[in-house]
Amino acid sequence: MDHYSVLRERMVKDQIEARGVADKRVLEAMLSVPRHLFVPEDLRGSAYQDSPLPIGEGQTISQPYMVALMTELLHLKGDEKVLEVGTGSGYQAAVLSLLAAEVFTIEKNERLASKAAKRLKDMGFDNVYVIVGDGTLGLKEEAPFDGIIVTAGSPSIPQPLTEQLKIGGRLVIPVGPSGMQMLKLIVRMEDRFIEEEKGGCVFVPLVGKHGWKSGHRFAN
Ligand code: SAH
Repeated sequence: MDHYSVLRERMVKDQIEARGVADKRVLEAMLSVPRHLFVPEDLRGSAYQDSPLPIGEGQTISQPYMVALMTELLHLKGDEKVLEVGTGSGYQAAVLSLLAAEVFTIEKNERLASKAAKRLKDMGFDNVYVIVGDGTLGLKEEAPFDGIIVTAGSPSIPQPLTEQLKIGGRLVIPVGPSGMQMLKLIVRMEDRFIEEEKGGCVFVPLVGKHGWKSGHRFAN
């Protein structure tokens, strides 16, 4: 087994399973995606640490535990159509691609989007589609979705995203001010939405029409 596989096993056991993520398929996906290939080369040695890491353009790849937790909350079985908002490095999209049929992922930063698209293609994650744009608008042409995951912190729940959920569909999104957000799960029922709080988290801001306005200064 190579060095990185050993670190990955340890990451899954000590950071993810130990904190209560139990979905076997999620744990297997976290074991198989080579996270070190999604971070800048000089940070590869830190790729399996219990923290987010910078990926350029002022953005970050999320903490492994947060990726696993948010993925588990989507309850994926394998045949779903999923939307991710905030492609970043493409790591979360790669994890989702092993657990769902199709993953559409929107990134507003063109440079990050094209790097992630190339990386995902080179690594053979061929059921992931990277789109450049404002993900707070969702992706009308591909809606409705079984699952939507937002990997940036939003001031509130963008209405287009709840509208683009199937009945029974699940939306996972960090909501709140820049220093600290609450991870929320929204489930669309026939006639209403159920909302649950899943704990505190810290993400970079979601900037867009139904997110923070660009130019807004984030108090840290
Ligand atoms: N899921 C990523 C980490 C995301 S960091 C990973 O696995 O690496 C959050 C990302 O959201 C950043 O890349 C940022 O540019 C992007 N972002 C912020 N606002 C956005 C918006 N309105 N639409 C799409 N992407 C957005």
